[in-house]
Amino acid sequence: MGKYGIIGFGYAAINAVDRIRGLDPKGDICVFEMAHGAVNPMLTTYYVAGKIDESRLTPFGSMDELAHKYGFRVIPERVSKLDVDTLTINYGHGEERFEKILVATGADPFVPHISGDEHLSERIFPMRTYEDAIRMRMYLGRHPIHDAVVLGASMVGIKIAELLAERDVEVTIADLADRMFATAADKKTSSILQDMIAAKGICSRFGVSVRSISEDGIVLSDGTFIKSDILCVCIGTRPRIEIARGVLNTNKAIVVNDRMETSASCVYAGGDCCEALNLCTGETGIVGLWANAAAQGQTAGENMAGGDAAFGGSLPSNITHFMGIDFVGIGFPNQDDTAETIKTDTGYFRFGVLNEAPAVNMIGEPTLSGVVKNIAATKLRKPNASVSLFSRSKLMNHLNRLEIDRITGGNDAEK
Ligand SMILES: Cc1cc2nc3c(=O)[nH]c(=O)nc-3n(C[C@H](O)[C@H](O)[C@H](O)COP(=O)(O)OP(=O)(O)OC[C@H]3O[C@@H](n4cnc5c(N)ncnc54)[C@H](O)[C@@H]3O)c2cc1C
Repeated sequence: MGKYGIIGFGYAAINAVDRIRGLDPKGDICVFEMAHGAVNPMLTTYYVAGKIDESRLTPFGSMDELAHKYGFRVIPERVSKLDVDTLTINYGHGEERFEKILVATGADPFVPHISGDEHLSERIFPMRTYEDAIRMRMYLGRHPIHDAVVLGASMVGIKIAELLAERDVEVTIADLADRMFATAADKKTSSILQDMIAAKGICSRFGVSVRSISEDGIVLSDGTFIKSDILCVCIGTRPRIEIARGVLNTNKAIVVNDRMETSASCVYAGGDCCEALNLCTGETGIVGLWANAAAQGQTAGENMAGGDAAFGGSLPSNITHFMGIDFVGIGFPNQDDTAETIKTDTGYFRFGVLNEAPAVNMIGEPTLSGVVKNIAATKLRKPNASVSLFSRSKLMNHLNRLEIDRITGGNDAEK
């Protein structure tokens, strides 16, 4: 029976606690959470859009419900210090010692410096936390919004653009990259998506950031003025690693091994606050994905409770539904030389090949995303692995033999 301190309670921590409790039914688990906790950040844009109510932001249950289900204590405070020699957690005016500690502090939305009068900061909206979602929905409910700029043309920004367009707001989406979904789509796919959103009335500006905000609008980094009542900032996150700095080995995020152990004995980390092995590059770095947070949390929890689990790495993937469009990016599809476009009844496929595994972009084929992602992940781990008849038959509904062979490497045992 152990004594476990969990710092932060997002999806990584929920998964860790689930594993700890499975292996150690009587252990003492104490969760430190400085904000709302147990939130699925992916649902924030649905809440702002009015598509779900507040309770759905915590789809696994509230903190109280989860504390009851798993039998853990909650200290609703920010952890200010971690002593890895004595395994002591400091919070507010208290401190407590543990046998095992998990750092699962997630990530903060990145908001660059934007000049302008201080009172205008109330018109700048990042989107990550429960509090961000409540604040933006309240603001939209109380202020007439006619024009908006959304900074960031990827999975979060496009959802914000969608919900504003649904309220008849004139939306301009801007990004420092030269195109939409720059890290998940290849150039051809980006261009197809850009045409699709332009047809839906969304303006876009690429290769620019935001310089300043005024009463009437914002000025882009190239000097262009855009009329705007609000500015939404969706340009990614930065791992929350203040408490780890100086006490744990960190790069851009906390460094962990495949057991999710940090550089300090009995201290583990999981989720957006730590690095992960990227199966496409073979290197470790920030991944920032839901499935990755779950797998890392499970691995950490199992090992903390005396099990023996290893995290196999993460396949970068982006599955986003917006404005009636389904976009899927799996692997690193930035390979314009090798990728080819296949038009299907409902959309497009783009295939590239990376490390002998498919790097895929799909538009309009959401039912296939899981199958293709599994094939890609399997092939990255074992290039000669065969593809199941189930996977192949799902692909056959959309693609011809040659195209399927490109995805599977022609290596399906059950053809
Ligand atoms: C709008 C949006 C859309 C997204 N869409 C997708 C998507 O389509 N697909 C996908 O795979 N991923 C998506 N993501 C990313 C995904 O949600 C995250 O990767 C995942 O939620 C990370 O979980 P986590 O537990 O590591 O961190 P978090 O959910 O950030 O949880 C960390 C928790 O730690 C708490 N905390 C932090 N510091 C302290 C401290 N010092 N003391 C106490 N508590 C602390 C925080 O309050 C928070 O509750 C999206 C994210 C957002 C914001």
